[in-house]
Amino acid sequence: QKPARGYANAAKGIKYEDIGGLGSEIQRVREMIELPLKNNELFKRLNIEPPKGVIMHGPSGTGKTLIAKAVANESRANFLYIAGPEIMGKYYGESEERIRKIFEEASENAPSIIFIDEIDSIAPKRENVTGEVERRVVSQLLTMMDGLEERGQVVVIGATNRVDSLDPALRRPGRFDREVEIGVPDTDARHEILQIHTRGMPITEEVQLDYLAKNTQGFVGADLKALVQEAAMCSLQRFLPHLNLDEEIPQETLEEIVVTTEDFENA
Ligand code: ATP
Repeated sequence: QKPARGYANAAKGIKYEDIGGLGSEIQRVREMIELPLKNNELFKRLNIEPPKGVIMHGPSGTGKTLIAKAVANESRANFLYIAGPEIMGKYYGESEERIRKIFEEASENAPSIIFIDEIDSIAPKRENVTGEVERRVVSQLLTMMDGLEERGQVVVIGATNRVDSLDPALRRPGRFDREVEIGVPDTDARHEILQIHTRGMPITEEVQLDYLAKNTQGFVGADLKALVQEAAMCSLQRFLPHLNLDEEIPQETLEEIVVTTEDFENA
């Protein structure tokens, strides 16, 4: 397998082990995307077609982008990112042109994963479509997907938190015909996510991540990451008055800087 070239950078280094609590979702994504990218001959043997498009849906900050990057990185595929709302250009034809270019790039450098974040903003249900731009962009997207030749070598992942408001034309067979729901994490999943985000952070032994997990009902991955970072900032604020910032901080002093339960509570 060729190593990924160039613009895979956005996904570089992101692994499945960096994702907390989405074991079965990752498993499904791997079967749908990684398997055909890496072992297309299995699909040829069975004469079945791997998906061209997968929709990941669920609330914001639950790890949809993270999974897409991890699957690209772990399959050694290029990762091309499209931010739904940003692709909508002001000038006639600009958005379609951008989509066409990205698909071209993806095909030239296959295996590739094209990730379209907030796909509902470019492909809303037609009855909700107000502008002519959306109509043209959706039809360009569909044309590009229909035109993908070697199946399984370019996969498009669309992410949305409003799956019901997607244009149904997108979800026909041969287009985005698979779906994975990425939900809000439960207690165990929150525990795993907290463990991931505190890896390599000097937290004291009394910090009970399982207790924090129990008490963060409703937090998604992005919230938990923010919590951990804020706790570290609280620790920094405690230590700052004791540091002389004009001089290099001695190693022994650095080693005293730790994140405590109180920092988490303050955060
Ligand atoms: P959006 O719909 O807003 O784009 P998203 O579902 O794509 O959200 P991500 O961008 O993947 O969410 O998540 C934001 C950040 O939150 C990630 O980079 C990661 O640091 C953290 N995060 C989210 N979910 C998880 C998770 N399950 N495990 C570990 N970290 C997570």
